Amino acid sequence: MIAVLRLGHRVGRDVRITTHICLAARALGAEKVFLSGEKDESVIKSIEGVVKRWGGRFEVEYRKDWRAVMKGWKGKTVHLTMYGEPLNDKLGILRKEKDLLVIVGAEKVPSEVYRNANFNISVSGQPHSEVAALAVFLDRLFEGKELEKRFSGAKLRIVPQAHGKLIEER
Ligand code: SAM
Repeated sequence: MIAVLRLGHRVGRDVRITTHICLAARALGAEKVFLSGEKDESVIKSIEGVVKRWGGRFEVEYRKDWRAVMKGWKGKTVHLTMYGEPLNDKLGILRKEKDLLVIVGAEKVPSEVYRNANFNISVSGQPHSEVAALAVFLDRLFEGKELEKRFSGAKLRIVPQAHGKLIEER
């Protein structure tokens, strides 16, 4: 199982980017997001609505205590940071793991996260965004196969078109 831990959510300021973390995580093969920082029902509700309409198994859970999430995780923990080891160098060992907790930050990530994560991984050594870092990480981890994932129980499904939009409703 691949889960994501989103650190340091701030109500108001981070709503859009935290929602995008959850959407990208779901679309690209993760099964769960732990939200930490300030509690924000609006993000959780909006993702629950997406899951209801677009299907699949995906959950968002608020956990104030991110240390407990890291400590309690049964597999390996991977902190995404531009200061970490290059993703391409570590893909081989990461792909062998069954359960990964992928940690992404907001403004300032506590040094404890750098110390305690099993891996600190950079998605290029340039500053960019947690959504981009997560998306590239998942895509590389799954080697692009996540793009073909089927979402069971969906009420809505896109019928791919060369031009225009077609949605099938069930
Ligand atoms: N200077 C901040 C810090 O203390 O890490 C960077 C904050 S950045 C806006 C928010 C998050 O995006 C980071 O915590 C990290 O998870 C992710 N991120 C940004 N650039 C990254 C990169 N090149 N590789 C991996 N993750 C990155």
